[in-house]
This record gives sequence, structure tokens and C-alpha cells, in this order.
Amino acid sequence: MTSASSVRDAINARIDADRDMLVELLRQFLRIRSVNPPGDTREAADFVRGILDRFGVPHRTLSAVAEMPNIVGRWDGARPGKHLVLNGHMDVFPVSNEALWAAELRDGRIYGRGASDMKTGTLAAIMAYGYLHEHRAALAGALSLTVVSDEQSGGRYGTRFLFEQHPGVVAADACLNGEPSGLGNLRFMEKGTLRFSLSSSGIGGHGGYPHQAPNPIERIIRLTSRIYELYHLKLGDLPPEVDAILTSPETVRTADALLGAGAAENARRITVNIGIINGGLKATQIPTACTAHLDIRTPLGTDRDVLRAELLALADEHGCTMVVNEDHSYPASMTDPEGELAQILRRNTRELLGLDAPPVCSLGGTDARYWRWRGIPAVICGPSNISMGTDQEHVTVEEAIAVIRLQALCAADYLAGTHRADEPARGGA
Ligand SMILES: [Zn+2]
Repeated sequence: MTSASSVRDAINARIDADRDMLVELLRQFLRIRSVNPPGDTREAADFVRGILDRFGVPHRTLSAVAEMPNIVGRWDGARPGKHLVLNGHMDVFPVSNEALWAAELRDGRIYGRGASDMKTGTLAAIMAYGYLHEHRAALAGALSLTVVSDEQSGGRYGTRFLFEQHPGVVAADACLNGEPSGLGNLRFMEKGTLRFSLSSSGIGGHGGYPHQAPNPIERIIRLTSRIYELYHLKLGDLPPEVDAILTSPETVRTADALLGAGAAENARRITVNIGIINGGLKATQIPTACTAHLDIRTPLGTDRDVLRAELLALADEHGCTMVVNEDHSYPASMTDPEGELAQILRRNTRELLGLDAPPVCSLGGTDARYWRWRGIPAVICGPSNISMGTDQEHVTVEEAIAVIRLQALCAADYLAGTHRADEPARGGA
């Protein structure tokens, strides 16, 4: 019988042999314009199905809306064991730099929209699903693939649709997701968000006659200033054992290095962002309306019902109306950083890259939350997040190959049964 280590050796050799092909495949994927909004991923889905067909692996397409297909598949190993699901999305941010669609390879970097978020991580999931299939006779349990649409707009027609309409497809023992994370850390947690609009209106008037009409812009400014005073950078109500992880020196050092100085402290605090304010036509006129759109990020432990009630009361006090964007509001989520899949990722990171992977909190959202909310461990393994969404979005070739290798080897270890999975993580804790 093939041993777990020979499966690992075979996968490593295959990735070495496929290196140039993998780079070309990623560049082809990056040239497909799967921008969200509008989120039409049909061409990207055709591309993904093409790869899966060349592997000869099982897959099918599940769509809530025709323009947003989700490709799912599952195969089983030779003996009973655990079920791992791989997850990635095909949709990407809009561009202001059209050159990104060329997916240029320059100085060891591949430039393209989605290179970071997250076509590299998604391709890694697709390749892991295909590569391991050839070794299924030596593996236990099952491997599932979920390549989804609509992540950039909240997942209503993507991962959330799968959980609501096809729960059997996503129910697993663990999830590995390839969102941008950077290597050398373990993304075990992400903050929650409360997204909402505030609006105010009046009859308008001449700017010299403020005694005759309320000014909606003034109301919005007073209200949003108050929200900043009360909540921005307020320390969250974190469980002590979680706060101990977030304040440990190795986590602080790693989070600040990968996500920018201040990121470690940010993970423990509520943050407020006003993203849009609309109102007014002319300096000499009292406007008839003003609307602001805000995003409040909440650490684990924040009571969102209380926060929401407080904000509604504040809006009311200031003569404004608050409407919550439910699709984009959700609680924080976390996974045990000492869990089996987390330990496997940390051990492989150390073996392959010589890096420790201390637990770090993500500051943005990923579909991993849908698994974590249901108590299913979900960890992230993708390239650096530094350039995501920018005009210079890119991934280095080395990093792309490392992500493909890490995901495949982590999946192989997880499905190896007891061969390696029960060993303690070296350099862990
Ligand atoms: Zn993403």
C-alpha cells in the first residue's frame, strides 16, 4: 500500500514538473474578466470545468442565478475517514487599470486582478482536488471542492446558497480556503461587520435662512461624529483566552508585519469607517437630503444586537434613519488554532518554508466564516494580501507555487488518516 509520505513525494514531484504549466494556467485564469459587480462568472466557470475535465475528476454545477455558477465536486478515498472541503471564489474586484487583464509576468511576478484575491488560492484548491484524486487509493475520507461565485458581494448566490440549498455539499469535518493570507501565519479568526446607511431629509431652502429648515448634512455629520466618538477603536469584549492569543508577542509581531503596523491592536477593537457621504447641490442651499454609508468591524465577543440597538437609538435622537445592509452584516468567527487542520498547515509551513505560523486575525471577511459559524474548523492558505484590489495586484511565482503545494500537501495529510495528522506541530503552540 502506498504510504502517506510517498503520496507527498509524488505530489511534490508533480508540482515541480508542472511548474511552467501552473504559471500559464494561473495567467489564463487571471485574464478572464469575472468582475463583481456584476459578478458574471460563466466564463471563469467554463475555464474551471475545463481543468477538472482534463483531470477526469467528478464535478457538477449548482446555480442560484445563471450568471453565477458554483462548481462543486467530491471524491472518496479508499477507506473511511474525515471529509475536507476546499473553497475558493472566482469573482474579483473591479479594475481601474485595464493592463491587469493582460496577466503580465514580469520580474518573477504575475500581475492581474485576482492574483491575490483570490484566483491563486482558488487554482490551488482546483489543483489539489485533481492531484490528490490520482492517489485516492492511498487516502482515507473524502475531498470536496467548492469553487463559488458572488463572494465579493456577500455570498448570497455562492457559498451561502450552497449552505442553504445544498448543505450536503459543504458539510465536512474541516475547510481549507485559499483567500489572501500571506504565508507564515495561521488565519484562525476574522472580525464581524455591521454595514448600514444613515439618512436624513428636509424641505431644503436658502443657506442664509437656517432658521427655516433643518440641514440634513449637519445632522449626518453630528450623528457620524458621535458614532466615531463612542465606538471607533473601542476595545472589544473578547474572551480572555482569545485575547491572550491576540496579544501574544509572536502574534502581534506577525500580524503587524503582514497586515501593517497596528493590525494586531485593530483585531481587538471595534473600528468605524464612513465610506460614502452623499448630499447637497450648492454651497448656498440647504440640502433636502443626506445619506452616509458606514461599516463597523467588530471583534469576537461584541454583542451585535446591543450595538445595533444603540445605533438605532442614536440615529433616532439625531433625526436620522438607519437601515442595516443585512447581506453584508455578520458576526466574527474563529477556529481553534490548535485544531488538526490548523496544526497540519503550521507543520507544512515550517517544513516547506522554514516559517512559523502563529495565529493571526483577518481584518476582512472570507467565506470561511460560513463553516466556522457551524462549528466546522476552517483555515486560510493563500498568497499575500498586500496588493489585493490595487492597480498593482500581483503574486510572485514562488508564492503561487508555494500556495499550490501547501494546499495539496495539507489536504494529503488531512486525508492520510493517522499517519501524520496526530503528530504534534513542530514549533507550534
Ligand atoms: Zn476574496
